[in-house]
Amino acid sequence: MPGLGDDTACFLINGHCLVDCGWNAALSMARVGRTPLDIDHILLTHCHHDHYMGLAGLLFYRRLRGLSVEDLPELRIIGPGADIERVVGLARGFLQPERFETLDRLTESVMPVDPGDALDLGELRVTTAPVQHQVQGLAYRVHDTRTGAQIGFSGDTAYLPALSEHFRGVDVLVHEASHGLHEPQPGPEQGHSSARQAAATASGAGAGRLYIVHAPATDAEATLAAAREVFPSTYRPEAGETVEVGEG
Ligand SMILES: [Zn+2]
Ligand SMILES: [Zn+2]
Repeated sequence: MPGLGDDTACFLINGHCLVDCGWNAALSMARVGRTPLDIDHILLTHCHHDHYMGLAGLLFYRRLRGLSVEDLPELRIIGPGADIERVVGLARGFLQPERFETLDRLTESVMPVDPGDALDLGELRVTTAPVQHQVQGLAYRVHDTRTGAQIGFSGDTAYLPALSEHFRGVDVLVHEASHGLHEPQPGPEQGHSSARQAAATASGAGAGRLYIVHAPATDAEATLAAAREVFPSTYRPEAGETVEVGEG
């Protein structure tokens, strides 16, 4: 549940590739000088509401403002094969295109992805790996082939040592820490990580920096300190913060 003026975790890469879609993603982008009209790809880690709730609003924004824009990039929405087509269909349906014709003039393509698939999105090379969560999820590794910068996104997942291999050597790892200071019981029903577990994955991967997200608002300082005991280069991002990765 985002606080006032805040949003659920979502990330914009190179100004055009959005990873997850927070409740207010379109307006949150505008607040930091970015526009949904520049987006050509949305990568959803999985289809729980906190990761896709802003999709209808973003599609509405694009349909309202995009028609008059020259060279508007085509939008492709990518996500887990189990859910992505249904969720994008529901977001489109919410706009009632059959009643409001102008909202049907722009559409977007949908690309279901299974864990292990690799994608080329312009300068970005994206590889995926399975996670352990209550619905099918994808851990994304994004490689900027122009600069060499590499970023990993865990999405929501229980602690999975195998993810360290997927994220080997990334400059930045964005990992969930839903359990904060609390260490969850391991088991197949577990779907989230603690801050220390996020840090263990970053440490195992030899990542440059770790950003913990999706963490409880309470005990924020203690949670960060616990992660830093395991992996010193750990941070909590501010809403709207820009992080420079790699050269160029
Ligand atoms: Zn989830
Ligand atoms: Zn979530």
